[in-house]
Amino acid sequence: MRSAQNEPSADWTEPGVFEVCPGVYRIPLPLPTDGLRAVNTYAIEDGATLVLIDPGWAITAARDLLAKALAVLGCGVGDVSRFLVTHIHRDHYTLAVALRREFGIRVSLGVGEQPSLAILADPDRKPFTDHYAQLFRCGAEPVVQQLRDLPADSHDPTIWEQPDDWLHSSQIPLTARQLRVLPTPGHTRGHVVFVDDAGGLLFAGDHVLPHITPSVGFEVAVDELPLGNYLDSLRLVRSQPDRRLLPAHGPVAPSAHARVDELLDHHAGRLDQIHARVDAGAHTAYEVARALSWTRHRRTFAELDAFNQMLAVTETEAHLGLLASQGRLGRADDDGVRHYTPT
Ligand SMILES: [Zn+2]
Repeated sequence: MRSAQNEPSADWTEPGVFEVCPGVYRIPLPLPTDGLRAVNTYAIEDGATLVLIDPGWAITAARDLLAKALAVLGCGVGDVSRFLVTHIHRDHYTLAVALRREFGIRVSLGVGEQPSLAILADPDRKPFTDHYAQLFRCGAEPVVQQLRDLPADSHDPTIWEQPDDWLHSSQIPLTARQLRVLPTPGHTRGHVVFVDDAGGLLFAGDHVLPHITPSVGFEVAVDELPLGNYLDSLRLVRSQPDRRLLPAHGPVAPSAHARVDELLDHHAGRLDQIHARVDAGAHTAYEVARALSWTRHRRTFAELDAFNQMLAVTETEAHLGLLASQGRLGRADDDGVRHYTPT
């Protein structure tokens, strides 16, 4: 396992095998969407085998590139003993299932993903059904109309198989290091991160991302207070010793704490902005989302595509729900649509 490169300076999505520290490698794999562009798979040496964290999206390009990358490490896919997956989103989970079919590799996922997996695995479920219900409640019927006009999803619903084991708060001993499973619900209900305490590494999945704000409130079985959970999980990571940040999207960064502080600040500011929009007369998550700017490029809501409009609305709903639970806003349902009012 000698031929890995050092980190590229500019583009973290550039294909390759990048050594994070001895025995740990970052392998960016492509995604079929233009938004996120790539997902980092982390390969960890474990004796003669490899353990992979977040093996990516089940597309041929990712599978082929992973095989090439493992060859650089002197291994094949058959040398992987286990997939540890931080959460159920398909850019993290689905290639694990696809490769298990070929190689019998053990797949592990956080136990909190059980409700979402049960829904996704339903063979009669039509794509987006649960998101449509959520969007109607948010007053976002126009977004539903746009999503309905999108070309049909070609994704294979049978990919949503059960993992071999469900991860709880626990230790995973490897030959040369020990990983601690830390549940961090928020981005999804069952999101976990993997902490290497002795090695000072945080395999953060989508809980802490260096360049973007992880979406909150976008899942098929959404929890009561996803943003409350997410902020609690950020504070949990902040309460533990600082680690190098190994994110699923973006370059490795020296301090997880530094980015957690920025994310906590971001959401505090966003809660204030959203409160102010309700004070100014917006009442539903859809109305509030349309009155905000989005992404770090400060786009208007209308500039987002239908999928990102959906994320914007569900994210806004997550903030409104937290404000209401804190007594900072009133909340009432009228004809299936949730309305928020100043208190
Ligand atoms: Zn992701």
